[in-house]
Amino acid sequence: MAKGLEERVMGLIRGDRLVRRGDKVMVAVSGGKDSAVAAWILAKHAEELGIEVALLHLDQQIHEYSSDARKTVEKLAKQLSVPLYVHEWRKEWGTGLGEIAEKLHKAPCHVCGVLKRYYQNIIPKKLGYNVVATGHNLDDSVGFIINNLINGQIEYIAKLAPMLPETELTVRKIKPLFWIQEWEIRKFADEHSIPYTNTRCPFQQFAPTYHIRRSFDVVEEKRPGTRKAFVKNVMKLARAVKKVNETKKPKACKYCGAPTNGDVCAVCKMKIKLGLEPGKIVLPEVMKWN
Ligand SMILES: [Zn+2]
Repeated sequence: MAKGLEERVMGLIRGDRLVRRGDKVMVAVSGGKDSAVAAWILAKHAEELGIEVALLHLDQQIHEYSSDARKTVEKLAKQLSVPLYVHEWRKEWGTGLGEIAEKLHKAPCHVCGVLKRYYQNIIPKKLGYNVVATGHNLDDSVGFIINNLINGQIEYIAKLAPMLPETELTVRKIKPLFWIQEWEIRKFADEHSIPYTNTRCPFQQFAPTYHIRRSFDVVEEKRPGTRKAFVKNVMKLARAVKKVNETKKPKACKYCGAPTNGDVCAVCKMKIKLGLEPGKIVLPEVMKWN
């Protein structure tokens, strides 16, 4: 019989040394099934792996979607009895994602992507965690690759991997579900009664990768294993590009210390544009359960 999801995930965590003894791992949870399953597996095996696990939720403050997601991650954290940190965007930006994007004249998914990557690095770093885990799956990688090919951003594809090592400016980024398909994750979450919400982000119809991801469903059905082969072979191809990429070393943002190619990072630039104080991060308080 084929190996189960949990066994394959643990195989990747151990085989590729995604975590080491003594690591403090923050799992970025959205309320959706992918990050919930990643958190569930890491929390379940925390002791044998010798790691500490906490959850980080970014509350974008998009009305109903956010309150639903928030309730779900609280339920998940209680069930796993791990600490939860919730970063509320309103506290730092004075408003939610929709309005921030409008004021900046940018697409909400673009702003959300930039801010997510930013906080998923700077919050763990400031709170003393050295690893951030996300729920990215095989379907996400397919969407990511094709979208970047369409936009001509080949150098981004070179960074696609189950693990990006720690640097001076960034925590280690790990994707335990890297080789797992979305449908398998849904099945696993349902079978194990892992709390997740199906409520979709209202901006999702604007997400550039949504239709690309779904178009692969037909291909996968006709030729099972296509997603895996596709991602594996593109990663092979990307290794050649990587060498060029590695010569460019990012600098620290002069306001907040996040990695950037210039002197000021994209997020601090956004804050300056909005008349907010750059580099001022409102760190979330911990919620603990007994
Ligand atoms: Zn900055």
